[in-house]
Amino acid sequence: MVILSVKGLKKYFTMGENIVKALDGIDLEIQKGEFLAIVGTSGSGKSTLLNMLGGMDNPTSGEVMIDGHDISKMSRDELTICRRRKIGFVFQNYNLLPLLNVYENIVLPIKLDGIQPDDTYIDTILKLLNLESKKYAMPNQLSGGQQQRAALARALAAKPTIILADEPTGNLDSKTSQDVLGLMKVSGLKLVQTIVMITHNEEIAQMADRIIRLEDGKIVKGGADDVESR
Ligand code: ADP
Ligand code: ADP
Repeated sequence: MVILSVKGLKKYFTMGENIVKALDGIDLEIQKGEFLAIVGTSGSGKSTLLNMLGGMDNPTSGEVMIDGHDISKMSRDELTICRRRKIGFVFQNYNLLPLLNVYENIVLPIKLDGIQPDDTYIDTILKLLNLESKKYAMPNQLSGGQQQRAALARALAAKPTIILADEPTGNLDSKTSQDVLGLMKVSGLKLVQTIVMITHNEEIAQMADRIIRLEDGKIVKGGADDVESR
């Protein structure tokens, strides 16, 4: 089942006299249950693509369908609701609130949505991420890897349709990166089922099921036409 599909996606930025073609005709289908890595050098369009997949910004043209909904046609308000319900974001910088403990950080987005947190489910997540003993720790008492796992727990707890991860291991050393990504893969595929990650780290990308490579806003490997690399 295709959970996320992109057709003819373009995103152009106007910089004074110049037009930057950040995305220049992207076609992509992501299956439910898939862990996809998007790689490419700096400036190739990775962040822009992830922003479009997450409905953070409107495309210049083209279509982005999440779970049967065309997010490129939604109003700002519809987009905000869709993003909150369907997408779990994980960032390079964790973005944990420093004055809240791990548990409070995890439940905050759920509570802001007016939903009572499911503590049994949260304990399951903490266990899967090897964070049980850190439930009441403050972010500044955690290592980078633990902070990223807490951020991942927060994303999972909202029961999204898909996890979008932006350089999730960008601030971690090589060993920690592999550990965190291994846990992200297992927990994400078990609880959410679909993960899209951008990274410029080739070793980390290898842990995904499929890798697509961007160059100058185009997919050069692993896209819809590239049967060989599947
Ligand atoms: P990557 O994440 O692969 O480093 P980006 O998606 O950030 O690449 O950027 C792709 C291209 O689009 C780059 O040339 C970048 O400078 C440009 N770009 C990205 N966002 C903007 C923006 N908001 N305004 C203008 N140019 C942008
Ligand atoms: P990374 O490659 O680590 O993702 P980037 O520097 O490419 O970081 O982009 C980080 C964010 O800044 C992106 O979301 C992008 O939209 C924005 N951005 C990138 N280039 C520009 C630019 N030239 N002008 C404005 N915003 C930009």
